[in-house]
Amino acid sequence: MMIPDNDFLAHTLKALDNNDRASVDYGSFIVVTEGLGVLRFEPKYQSEASGASVDQSGIERIVVSKTKFQPVSLVISVGIHGNETGPMELVNQIVKDMLNQDLSPSIRLLIIIGNPHAAVKGERFCDVNLNRLFLGAHKNYIGREVKRAIFLEHCVTRFFDEAPANHTRLHYDLHTAIRGSKYKKFAVHPYIGNKRYNLTQFSFIAECGIEAVLLSHQPTTTFSYYSYAEHDAQAFTIELGKVHPFGRNDLSEFEAINVGLRSLIETGALVSSERYVSMKVFKVIDSLVKDSDGYRLNIPDDMENFTPFDKATVLAESDKGRYVIKQTGDSVVFPNVNLPVGQRAGLVIREVKNKDLFS
Ligand SMILES: [Zn+2]
Repeated sequence: MMIPDNDFLAHTLKALDNNDRASVDYGSFIVVTEGLGVLRFEPKYQSEASGASVDQSGIERIVVSKTKFQPVSLVISVGIHGNETGPMELVNQIVKDMLNQDLSPSIRLLIIIGNPHAAVKGERFCDVNLNRLFLGAHKNYIGREVKRAIFLEHCVTRFFDEAPANHTRLHYDLHTAIRGSKYKKFAVHPYIGNKRYNLTQFSFIAECGIEAVLLSHQPTTTFSYYSYAEHDAQAFTIELGKVHPFGRNDLSEFEAINVGLRSLIETGALVSSERYVSMKVFKVIDSLVKDSDGYRLNIPDDMENFTPFDKATVLAESDKGRYVIKQTGDSVVFPNVNLPVGQRAGLVIREVKNKDLFS
């Protein structure tokens, strides 16, 4: 089945009950529709005659250029939260350019529009936050997102299971945040225990315009952590700025990551530079958990992520207890109390030295 106007996003949001699987041969690659909102690109190894030329001795030569299949399997997911439209529009344009044959993938690629039902409503989710349901956590919930989490895990499993053993496995899960942020673009790195951080990955996201990285302090049930934990992928949750409705995003804000992803798709190489040296790195030191209905955070609604606090500030309180800032400079990201009791109301973070990570 062809996608009308090669507009995968519009096609997905228009037919929410369309779960057909189909594949279309585009010559140098095959595109497989895996179900609603999921497209897989499989490049073919090619050796093609790209033209003839006549050399100095007058002998005609066929010029052969090889489109080489690079050993990378990349998952890009967007719209896991349905109202985070910017990354959906960005990735839709990349998909459109591939389907139009203006951008030629040399790597295996899985494109995921995470929560189309919520996207149509312009809401973060329908019944429950999809980005808390991975790694089996969906068992503890009911609602539309439960089925979606199971389906997305299934698609990612099949994609990575079919990857040859020598492939670099990558998953970038792109989001936008509810509130403003001192560092507008930042990434959340999965918890890796005693393993080493991957300098190439940090370097790549720095080149993609990411200003700060949060190092998770424990396993989570997010989509990117799932790919890391279950499939040994290098994975990040990437926040690219503030939430806006469809059509209200300034895609030029995403130019650095747009260029980085396109280059990765086309060449299989991660652009890099020394820019990571100036990227801020924070470790998560505590999770705030909403422990009762009366739970509240003592911060203004418009306070930006990463705003530092003084030691002894009472950050959160309820009839069950309170959270006091332990060290001046500690700050908070993702503060949010509009959620059920028992869920995460924010992360307390502390800056660490970038150079210590890779030594
Ligand atoms: Zn999000």
